[in-house]
Amino acid sequence: KLSQRLNTICKLIPPGSRLADIGSDHALLPTCAVQEGRVVSAIAGEVNRGPYDAAAKQVAAAGLQDKISVRLGDGLAAIQAGEADVITIAGMGGALIVRILTEGKSKLEGVSRLILQPNVGEDLVRRWLLQEGWLLRGETILEEDGKIYEVLTGDRSESAEEENAKLYADTTVGEPSVTLDREQLLDFGPFLVRAASPVFHEKWIGEIAKLERVAGSMGRSDTDDARGKKEALERHIERLKEVLACLP
Ligand code: SAM
Repeated sequence: KLSQRLNTICKLIPPGSRLADIGSDHALLPTCAVQEGRVVSAIAGEVNRGPYDAAAKQVAAAGLQDKISVRLGDGLAAIQAGEADVITIAGMGGALIVRILTEGKSKLEGVSRLILQPNVGEDLVRRWLLQEGWLLRGETILEEDGKIYEVLTGDRSESAEEENAKLYADTTVGEPSVTLDREQLLDFGPFLVRAASPVFHEKWIGEIAKLERVAGSMGRSDTDDARGKKEALERHIERLKEVLACLP
């Protein structure tokens, strides 16, 4: 049985797809997606030998070798262009996800959906999707075992530019209202901040606490540069608090 996090990702795969799950570890997601009949075939890509062996074992135990190809390779080097309709990359940092997508750009031809679950650095992934012309189709935030996860779905779409422009245009939310610019929408997530769920609030209360600890540890500084950085961080924290206070 999949975790709530992996199940959320699985449900976002359009039925009948050919899946490539990059950084698949035990190949739980592709195995379940094939068993449920959601995907017709899958590739489980892994860069490390240990997880690769675990994935191969899992696929063999499920008797799915004809449907799931387990491959050793760095990021999208594990797949050929045209082999997958949907790519999932979950459970790693946003910077690593962006590196994998950037280095493997030629393999994205023919891919219609990216389902990305960064553990940190979600804003980097949103920025990459926007820059590369992928439509941000949706965002989900969930909490499981005391951790909060965001799942971002990017689609190839003729109207991506137009729809992204609307999604990231200055947006007024809340009561009293607050206007969010593109940078803030990239940080919070345009869907997530509009929905402002309890988990979203919890995430940002945690983020603010982390940033306050960082600001606190910066201490009293002698140089203008250090003072400037601390003040900028404090302004950023105040702004985050102001936005959260306005959201429902
Ligand atoms: N995707 C699974 C999930 O969400 O439960 C596993 C997440 S696990 C924390 C991250 C996996 O990504 C590890 O098995 C690691 O070996 C793999 N990984 C890290 N960098 C990678 C890369 N450049 N290419 C392929 N796999 C990578």
